Amino acid sequence: MRIEEFRQRLRALGAKPTHEARLLRQWVNARPLEGGRSLAEHFLPQRVRDELPALAADLSALARVRSAHPAEDGAERLLVELADGQTVESVLLPRDGLCVSAQVGCAVGCVFCMTGRDGLLRQVGSAEIVAQVVLARQRRPVKKVVFMGMGEPAHNLDNVMEAITLLGREGGIGHKQLVFSTVGDPRVFERLPQGPVKPALALSLHTTYAQRRAELLPRAPRIDPAALVDEGERYARATGYPIQYQWTLLEGINDGDDELDRVAGLLQGKYAMMNLIPYNTNEGLPFRRPDGERAAEMARFLNRRGVLTRLRWSAGQEIDGGCGQLRARTAPQPVR
Ligand code: SF4
Repeated sequence: MRIEEFRQRLRALGAKPTHEARLLRQWVNARPLEGGRSLAEHFLPQRVRDELPALAADLSALARVRSAHPAEDGAERLLVELADGQTVESVLLPRDGLCVSAQVGCAVGCVFCMTGRDGLLRQVGSAEIVAQVVLARQRRPVKKVVFMGMGEPAHNLDNVMEAITLLGREGGIGHKQLVFSTVGDPRVFERLPQGPVKPALALSLHTTYAQRRAELLPRAPRIDPAALVDEGERYARATGYPIQYQWTLLEGINDGDDELDRVAGLLQGKYAMMNLIPYNTNEGLPFRRPDGERAAEMARFLNRRGVLTRLRWSAGQEIDGGCGQLRARTAPQPVR
């Protein structure tokens, strides 16, 4: 389930790095491995050519679309079944975006999220992450990939970085169009700057109060919000991409004037963009979204205070496809 395993298999058959790159490029762009110009032209070793049908079969067995749920706003939620029967969700977003899942379940346990309720069931392998992109590309173009589906990418860093590297190098996706979304983990700030492909970074802030954050995100690393913003700012300046702060708007919890003042204090002058995301109501969870006028007023306030802010209604709300709040409708499968 790792891309590296596929590479090793090719090397064992005598493939050179250029052959590996070519075959991976075919796969990640949803083209047949044997397609394109004649194989002989690329000097693929005979053993690799003989093995191509088996390699292609193994790659397509990684994941399949179990069901698809289109929404009126152009989003489409895909329930993706992995080879062991576990399921994850991907969301095709308007304007050629795709939201992928990095884990089955999640250990962070954000109290407003359905994904976190059952804890972590298993990691999603790097090849399974890329397979979500391949399945999406079989339906429509994908030019942006955001890691905002099920799971915390920082808890599956090796697989996520391997997938990001392939998508950025062979997958034709601009590095800035790969968005690593995290609640904030010190390992992220160490690893991301070292990778050959540096993605954009989205940080889930949700509140400016350390204690409230610990209650909302009970198993997120205990980083003070101000320290998190400092780390984010360093990464933004190093890469030249603004940090996207995510703020799930919960009525009566983090939509007060006190929070707005503190956000303005934290983010004024920072290379950042604030995304206010009205909560996507989930049956069985006691949270509500503020009304539309309050949400719009909050965005206006922050913009007036010099914090570039967008109000983002999650794509595919009516199909439960709000990123970060995805919910598997099928019961979680036991891990084998
Ligand atoms: Fe995990 Fe994201 Fe859900 Fe939090 S919001 S529990 S980090 S999937």
